[in-house]
Amino acid sequence: MQTKINTAQEAYGYWKATTLATRIEHVQRLKEVLRRNRLHYATLITQEMGKPITQSLAEVDKCGLLCDYYCANADAFLKPKTIKTEAYESFVTYEPLGVILGVMPWNFPFWQVFRFAIPTILAGNVVMVKHASNVPQSAASIEALFLEGDFPIGVYQNLHLSSDKIADVIAHPEIKAVSLTGSEAAGSAVAAQAGKYLKKSVLELGGSNAFIVCKDADLDKAVATAVNARMQNAGQSCIAAKRFLIQETVFEPFVEKYKTALSKLVCGDPMNTATQIGPLARIDLAEELEKQVKQSVAMGATVVCGGIRKDTFYEPTILTGVTPEMPVFREETFGPVAALLSFNTLSEAIALSNQSDFGLGVSVFTQDINHLKKRIGEFHEGAVFLNEMVKSDPRLPFGGIKKSGYGRELAEEGLKEFVNVKTVVIH
Ligand code: NAP
Repeated sequence: MQTKINTAQEAYGYWKATTLATRIEHVQRLKEVLRRNRLHYATLITQEMGKPITQSLAEVDKCGLLCDYYCANADAFLKPKTIKTEAYESFVTYEPLGVILGVMPWNFPFWQVFRFAIPTILAGNVVMVKHASNVPQSAASIEALFLEGDFPIGVYQNLHLSSDKIADVIAHPEIKAVSLTGSEAAGSAVAAQAGKYLKKSVLELGGSNAFIVCKDADLDKAVATAVNARMQNAGQSCIAAKRFLIQETVFEPFVEKYKTALSKLVCGDPMNTATQIGPLARIDLAEELEKQVKQSVAMGATVVCGGIRKDTFYEPTILTGVTPEMPVFREETFGPVAALLSFNTLSEAIALSNQSDFGLGVSVFTQDINHLKKRIGEFHEGAVFLNEMVKSDPRLPFGGIKKSGYGRELAEEGLKEFVNVKTVVIH
């Protein structure tokens, strides 16, 4: 670890002194390599964690879009800002902090790393990344990609360490801040250690997003979106819709249409381009999901379809009769299980949506946009999407509140998480 930190420190000395234009050129070269080898990287993702190959390709392409976005906008974001005061001159500059640690999950093994590393590096920092232990090939190829993109050695490095060694890395004086995407338990451990050493942390943790369908919604659009919102990546996404709140008068038709739509999903070999649902990434994840469903059924939930696990495959599942006490409502379900509840009034739906430890995002389907816009402030979430599923976009800040974490990634806000906002006043 010490050798790598020395390398990072040396690289930082050089990297922070480069111009932004030079850093952008490196990112553009990296993006070209990414584009040329997109099928190779996508195949690695699918082989390691089971994501259907078309979705792995989309993940790799989205990393390219993120590179384009930051190359086009980093200059505007990092430009010093003049602020008029009574001083002769006053302005703010945005300077790098140094070596930043990233601790990353496996569910989007490329995207999560890119959205942390690219803006952080463009701001003049260097990064060290501890990847999830079940995606070593993806991890190795990202490190190789940075070298093929001609980045100086040490600007991006992987840390091959088990999670119990991360506390020592955070404690190291040369590590200036840490960004973690992962579970609540990992977030809490990392934040506690960062707090002990007074280092900044950004946490992107779990979610249990509600997906609210009002009686005036375009039901077919809501159903089609609900399929993607819950089933993408076999449900292994922090921003997936997990709790479906459906207004009483459209509950039955929604269930029928949703069930029909799920029955058409192609499940199977994730390397097959027709496959829409692959296996879960690990057997323990499939077993955990099975346990959450079984406990919820024992508490009174009804299985409308699915509910069956075969090894790491879990069938697309709809549960009705769900109550807030059940695991499928209270906990994050990381697999293709939709928990359905009905509501009478929008106020009731908002209260149910907020009745969660998590606060990443919510989707609401309705025709009455004007009314909903007046009520946005009532949702305890990092994002509210109307007539669309919650999804990340390089142009929009992304992150949560409550146990979904703090800080933001993407957009200008994400780039500015790891900079020293320096105030300069001249009299
Ligand atoms: P995880 O088990 O928390 O692992 C995430 C990363 O943290 C891995 O690199 C892991 O290493 C490491 N880690 C685990 N315990 C740690 C500890 N005590 N100290 C330091 N590092 C530790 O999560 P996961 O299963 O990979 O990912 C799924 C979770 O991530 C879900 O809860 C999901 O919602 C969340 N997630 C959130 C977002 C978001 O943007 N909000 C995005 C994607 C995923 P090992 O692999 O070696 O254990």
